[in-house]
Amino acid sequence: MIDLDSLTSSGQPLAFFFDLDGTLAELQPRPEQVFIPAETLAALEQLARHHGVAVVSGRPLAEIDGFTAPLRLAAAGVHGAEWRDPQGKTHRVTLDAEMLAQVGARLEAALAEHPDLLLERKSVAFALHYRQAPDKEALVRELAEGIAADHPEFKLQPGKCVFELKPAAASKGEAIARFLELEPFAGCLPVFLGDDRTDEEGFAVVNARGGLTVKVGEGETVAKTRLPSVQAVALWLQQLSRDLAPHYKQGD
Ligand SMILES: [Mg+2]
Repeated sequence: MIDLDSLTSSGQPLAFFFDLDGTLAELQPRPEQVFIPAETLAALEQLARHHGVAVVSGRPLAEIDGFTAPLRLAAAGVHGAEWRDPQGKTHRVTLDAEMLAQVGARLEAALAEHPDLLLERKSVAFALHYRQAPDKEALVRELAEGIAADHPEFKLQPGKCVFELKPAAASKGEAIARFLELEPFAGCLPVFLGDDRTDEEGFAVVNARGGLTVKVGEGETVAKTRLPSVQAVALWLQQLSRDLAPHYKQGD
């Protein structure tokens, strides 16, 4: 279990980073069916009153905002390729539009015979979901590897029943490092919770800064500790917002 006292004993303020799918929200058969429970949103809102809080997700920023509405947190989307800084300004990695159109057409053609595979187009990334057809993992992997080999602008990012082609320069680790240079994150001890392979780069950055890393669920990880499930994250968040309350100055 996560020891709150060891987190707060240094007196260093805390900043929190959360993955979305599989961490704040249960995975669902289709990505559009995912939602963040109301209790979790309430705890995030409470936490964000006193701490830097950012969502760091593979989803586009617009989707992240949809999930947290009416709350609008600092966020990095598409594995760090899009991000909104704490002042509210949005930044995006750009890729050649013609190349993106060609890759999109190639993926669409390859998936035309497989209605059980889902192609998700993001601003500068593609996600190939095979949750409905787990037996097609090898086929999807080969397709994604072929595109990554032909287009070095992309990096292959495997996830849970998904292969993503994301901009090579983008990573969750880089996104977290960028936030930690800016108020209200600068000088804080980072805490990062995530469940999937894309989160490992974030864990590495947070570990290097002496922060707390939490892997949600099973699987190999460099995270220092674990929570077993999305539900356990929700309960931990609610407990955290209660336990931290006495640490705030009165009137805050
Ligand atoms: Mg996730």
